Amino acid sequence: MIELSLREVTKRFHRGGEIVCALDRVTLDVPAAQFCVVMGPSGSGKSTLLHLVAGIDAPTSGTVIVDGRDLAAMSDDERTLLRRRRIGFVFQFFNLLPTLSALENAALPLQLDGVRRAEAERRARDLLGDLGLGDRLDHRPHQLSGGQMQRVALARALVGDPALLLADEPTGNLDSRSGEEVLALLRETATVRGHTVLMVTHDERAASVGDRIVHLVDGRVGSDTTTARAAAAR
Ligand code: ADP
Ligand code: MG
Repeated sequence: MIELSLREVTKRFHRGGEIVCALDRVTLDVPAAQFCVVMGPSGSGKSTLLHLVAGIDAPTSGTVIVDGRDLAAMSDDERTLLRRRRIGFVFQFFNLLPTLSALENAALPLQLDGVRRAEAERRARDLLGDLGLGDRLDHRPHQLSGGQMQRVALARALVGDPALLLADEPTGNLDSRSGEEVLALLRETATVRGHTVLMVTHDERAASVGDRIVHLVDGRVGSDTTTARAAAAR
């Protein structure tokens, strides 16, 4: 069970001679096992928010607390272990390793964590099968379609059964049927496994699968609403 807390989080980037304020004093609490959706126009700070929660990047000011721990107070090694053991990340642009097969990519987090290869690949194979990629295990990323790479990236994120799943537009490249399968898997991650999910999407229908929708506008929280689905479940 992992909960998240952002306190007055600001992130500025320097680009050329300009300063871009990607996040502007964002305060947000996400309780354990919530499926929280982040929406907003391109450039509103959605990916930046996920990167800060994963500890891949650090805020300019403010505090990011994951599982009760202030990320800024942890060492690089501690953050790496937190990411490896507790957090799954589906990147907007997949970040698959080009020289590894789909199976090897999906199994990689477990292998990095010392799980035996056969066992890591067994778990990766099961997940890839669930995601309809059972016949693509030996393909390299360049031999896969965008939607297939996206599902390999999702399998890699889920293979360690992470308590916190961060997903950046995980259905962006999928047809509606695969999209629904992915959303069902994320929903199950929260409801059945009790894991926390933070998902960025542009798609209203995908968003409606979550419990809550946070809208970012110019790096600020514009609105924060409970979905009809979550209201009905109460
Ligand atoms: P979104 O995911 O909502 O499209 P991002 O979080 O990627 O938005 O970006 C928010 C803003 O911060 C944009 O203006 C973007 O150009 C800028 N930005 C993001 N990452 C960087 C970076 N590494 N260097 C400079 N500017 C960045
Ligand atoms: Mg983005």
